[in-house]
Amino acid sequence: MFQSTLCYIEKDGKYLMLHRTKKEADANKGKWIGVGGKFLENESPEECLLREVFEETGLTLENWQYRGIVTFVSDRWEGEHMHLFTADRFSGTLTQSDEGELEWIDKNELEKLTLWEGDRIFLRLLERGVPFFSLKLSYMGDELDGAWLNGRNLDRSALLVSSCLLGNRCRYDGAGRMDERVTALWDKYVLIPVCPEAAGGLPIPRPSSEIKEGRVFDRVGNDVTEQYECGAQTALKLARTFKCAGAVLKSNSPSCGCGRIYDGSFSGRTVKGDGVTAALLKENGVAVYTENETEKL
Ligand code: SF4
Repeated sequence: MFQSTLCYIEKDGKYLMLHRTKKEADANKGKWIGVGGKFLENESPEECLLREVFEETGLTLENWQYRGIVTFVSDRWEGEHMHLFTADRFSGTLTQSDEGELEWIDKNELEKLTLWEGDRIFLRLLERGVPFFSLKLSYMGDELDGAWLNGRNLDRSALLVSSCLLGNRCRYDGAGRMDERVTALWDKYVLIPVCPEAAGGLPIPRPSSEIKEGRVFDRVGNDVTEQYECGAQTALKLARTFKCAGAVLKSNSPSCGCGRIYDGSFSGRTVKGDGVTAALLKENGVAVYTENETEKL
């Protein structure tokens, strides 16, 4: 297996895409991809990234993020471990590549391009801000015939899950709430973690919040409704992207609570109601369960 890098350079909501048109013996001929290439002897992923981007574009990256590793296997091509990056700051003047035409493409227009099917999967993962991931893609000729995310087959149904229930330390107090009834669902489902509050831009840790008269306030009185709504939209997008069969969300939370939520008095009492994310998912036809209802799945 050879090693390579691929980078999506971002500017004004667009990615710099390379339309591979110029080389005859090119496995990517006709496809749109990011920029990058094979490792040279003794190079680290970052050294390869910087060199390849400069050689293909004339740009020098000044800020980049290492987003994941993609393992390609194929009946036709040598296997590849591709180190996937995004970058959001660079200097220099764009020069044309000898491998094809470079073009800034609006991220909303990417789906219309001629892309590898597997690239569509990792572009969605990048766009949804999924944490560092390992994606394996198996091709028969040009056809994608298998995909595994973090070791789990993506053919299985996906479930959206409150990130804290998987042990991620995203709660208001900086803790997680690992729940073995939820982690056991890995046997049947691909679990897609989301923390709507963090996705909406709130920090970890943060003051706890509750819903009062249709708005969300933290315990020091700030109205954080907008951040909650933004995080709920992210959760809905993830549920749609992964065609989730449902969502398992943390009970009582002003974001994730389903059926009962804290009553707005910061006293620990609960009332009937749904958190902002649970309500939006339900409105859009996603079945929502709490961690106490996993036997239904
Ligand atoms: Fe957990 Fe949901 Fe609160 Fe995030 S918003 S910490 S996922 S309950």
